[in-house]
Amino acid sequence: MIGVLGGTFDPVHYGHLRPALEVCEWLGLSELRLIPCREPPHRPPPEAPPHHRLAMVERAISGVPGFRVDARELARPGPSFTVDTLAELRAEIGPECPLLLVMGMDAFAGLHGWDRWREIARLAHIVVAHRPGTLPAVDSPYLELAPATDSVALLRRSAQGRVFFQPVTQLDISATGIRECLRAGRSPRFLLPGSVRRYIAEHRLYRDVSAPPE
Ligand code: ATP
Repeated sequence: MIGVLGGTFDPVHYGHLRPALEVCEWLGLSELRLIPCREPPHRPPPEAPPHHRLAMVERAISGVPGFRVDARELARPGPSFTVDTLAELRAEIGPECPLLLVMGMDAFAGLHGWDRWREIARLAHIVVAHRPGTLPAVDSPYLELAPATDSVALLRRSAQGRVFFQPVTQLDISATGIRECLRAGRSPRFLLPGSVRRYIAEHRLYRDVSAPPE
């Protein structure tokens, strides 16, 4: 089973990484791919340019068994539609292999607003990680297309079309909060890996451009 976690990763933080690792272990995934998006269709553009966001993800997962970064969305012009990425992946792995799209509860709550969202159920399962501050989206229209299951065996037996709710360690961390913290001159230490924090400092990302250099 292959899992994919898409995001702006602006920057990547422990709220992405810890739930991703727990999903990987609980479901016995052979691989978890983090896919930074180039142009999110439903929100303002990311603050850091693609090459920096990619480099931060690479540093964050360096040496983590089973974790990989997949840069395909950065290479694709135009808005990064998840359905296109899943269709590409499905064509590569074949029709039998279970493909799991991992997302936080906030993302799942808005899924039925995504481009061609109904097609997603024909391409992948969805694994929803609970996230602080978002109530379980149990009335999502997506669940009418892809019923919820609590059976890992069922996910394994079918390639796509189910939703699995995964309780994970609740980390109230967001990239928005980290960017605010940096802009205010406070330390983001312990919210993200040290390698990412150092990269941000080295490249002077997310700083108030009017601030004097350190
Ligand atoms: P921003 O604050 O800029 O909106 P973010 O922290 O929400 O960013 P994204 O890169 O947009 O991060 O999120 C990518 C995916 O990771 C989404 O599916 C989101 O729901 C999930 N995610 C992000 N942070 C958490 C968290 N703390 N717990 C669980 N899931 C999370």
